[in-house]
Amino acid sequence: MNNLYEIKNPLCLENLAILRDKKTKPEQFRTALKRMAYFLIYEACKDLSLEDTLIETPLVKASVKRLDRKIKLIAAPILRAGLSFSDVIAEILPEISIQHIGMYRNEKTLKPVWYYDKTSVEYSNPDRLRIFILDPMLATGNSSLEAIKLFANKKIPPENIKLITLLSSPEGIKKLQHAYQDVKIYTACVDEKLNEKGYIIPGLGDAGDRIFNTL
Ligand code: URA
Repeated sequence: MNNLYEIKNPLCLENLAILRDKKTKPEQFRTALKRMAYFLIYEACKDLSLEDTLIETPLVKASVKRLDRKIKLIAAPILRAGLSFSDVIAEILPEISIQHIGMYRNEKTLKPVWYYDKTSVEYSNPDRLRIFILDPMLATGNSSLEAIKLFANKKIPPENIKLITLLSSPEGIKKLQHAYQDVKIYTACVDEKLNEKGYIIPGLGDAGDRIFNTL
C-alpha cells in the first residue's frame, strides 16, 4: 500500500514480542517501547531535507550535509500513550517543537473527546513544516484522523504529515488512507483486526495503562 511503511526489522519483532506479552512488567514494557520509538522515528526521518554546510574538522574545511534548518519540525504526541514517543523524538531532534494533543476515547461511541490542544492557532510557512503525529496505537483511527485534520485544516499539506504508530489495525489504516492518502504511516506491525471494543487483536492491550501501570 502506498504511504504505509511497516518496519519488519528483527529488532522490532523481538521488542514487539516483549510488548505483546501480558507477563511483561511495566518497566520492561517502557524500555521495549522506547527502543521501538528509536526504530520507528529513524525510519520516519529517512526523507528529511538536507542542506550543505561548511564546517572545519580538526584537519580541513569541509562541506557536509546536515538537516535543512529552513524546515521546522513539529511532534504532536497524542496523550497519554504518545508521551512515550515524544521523549525519544526530542532527544533525536533537539530543535523539534513538541505540541501536545489531548484526546480520550469515549468507550461507548469509540469517538475521541478533545481536552487539550497545544498546537498553534495558525502556522506561517506551512510548506516548510514537517509534522510527526505520535500515537502508538492506530486502532479505530478516530484520534489519529482528528489530529491529522487539525493540522490539515491549518493549511499544512497532508504530504508533510507523518503518523508514527507502533501497532495498526487494517480498519484504522483504511480510514486514514481514505481521508488523507498522502499522509505517511510508519508502523511496526499491521495486526489482524479490531475487536468489538475497538482494541487491536492480537495487540498488546491498553498501551497507556501498560506504560503508566494503571491497569
Ligand atoms: N488503544 C490501546 O491502547 N490499545 C488498543 O488495542 C486500542 C486502542
